[in-house]
Amino acid sequence: RPFFRAIARELDEKDLQLSETVPPQETDPTDFKSRFLKKIRKLGEGNFGMVELCLYDPKGDQTGELVAVKSLKTENESSNLRREISTIRNLYHENIVKYKGICNDEGGANIKLIMEYLPAGSLKEYLPRNKPNIDLKRLLLFALQICQGMEYLGSQNYIHRDLAARNILVENESLVKIGDFGLTKSIKDDKEYYKVTEEQDSPVYWYAPECLINRKFYKASDVWSFGVTLYEIMSYCDRENSPPQVFLKSIGRSHGQMTMARLVDALEKGWRMPRPDLCPEMVYTQIRRCWSHAPENRVDFKSLIKEFECLLT
Ligand code: ADP
Ligand code: MG
Repeated sequence: RPFFRAIARELDEKDLQLSETVPPQETDPTDFKSRFLKKIRKLGEGNFGMVELCLYDPKGDQTGELVAVKSLKTENESSNLRREISTIRNLYHENIVKYKGICNDEGGANIKLIMEYLPAGSLKEYLPRNKPNIDLKRLLLFALQICQGMEYLGSQNYIHRDLAARNILVENESLVKIGDFGLTKSIKDDKEYYKVTEEQDSPVYWYAPECLINRKFYKASDVWSFGVTLYEIMSYCDRENSPPQVFLKSIGRSHGQMTMARLVDALEKGWRMPRPDLCPEMVYTQIRRCWSHAPENRVDFKSLIKEFECLLT
């Protein structure tokens, strides 16, 4: 009897030891604590937000993981970042930047979005820097991957509204992902477009005529912006030939308030950015199919995917 009791006690102790090594309660992996987030450097900033590279190091021994942390420059935009978070956390695709969690333990307005870190930055930094090592095939592969991410986004009834090279992030020389869902809107199942109510600092040189004139955003408006993004990619994001530069060179500068009206006017008359020097005719044809004046006449992401797959084989 005492023998069995001894074994029973030993077993009990083993259980106890085991339960001590297992955390008493599984913690929420999407809940990041601000005290463990160590800023390394700034990655970039846009109109409203700022993105920093941080080490999330709960053990405090530098073994943590690198993450990209998006916060707001001014706290009064916090509802926008909340909306961005509620969008990105529902998206699961190879070509869309991965949501990791939020950090919100410093009180309401100070919410932060934690994403995976893409070491090569955006196409806008990556392409000019690595131009000699990137051939046409790579550029077309990037174009294909953006279309695949956009096709998925559209299937979830979202319109991105800020598709541009600065918002495409580079994982490595053969993988890019769509980022920056700050202007993304969900369209209701019974609607075909999203109507903007507040005029923001919108990326006008990436916008289709219906966005500029009627403030209506269709999935096809993202296709137009993709055309502008592809134009940027085919010019290796050369600053001298950026969309604003090209337009201002063509209509002349110093029109002040009239610049927007001039842009709309030029687009309505059929003016389009010319073929970049290194862009093959076959690719420029696709760009032009994205820039049909009427949204219903534009190519869609599905057929663009087919075209790029074809060009790549
Ligand atoms: P904003 O809404 O202010 O434009 P973005 O989300 O576009 O903010 O981020 C701004 C810049 O920060 C990007 O253009 C890119 O250079 C950099 N960046 C953003 N997210 C990441 C990330 N996950 N990994 C690496 N760099 C990033
Ligand atoms: Mg951005």
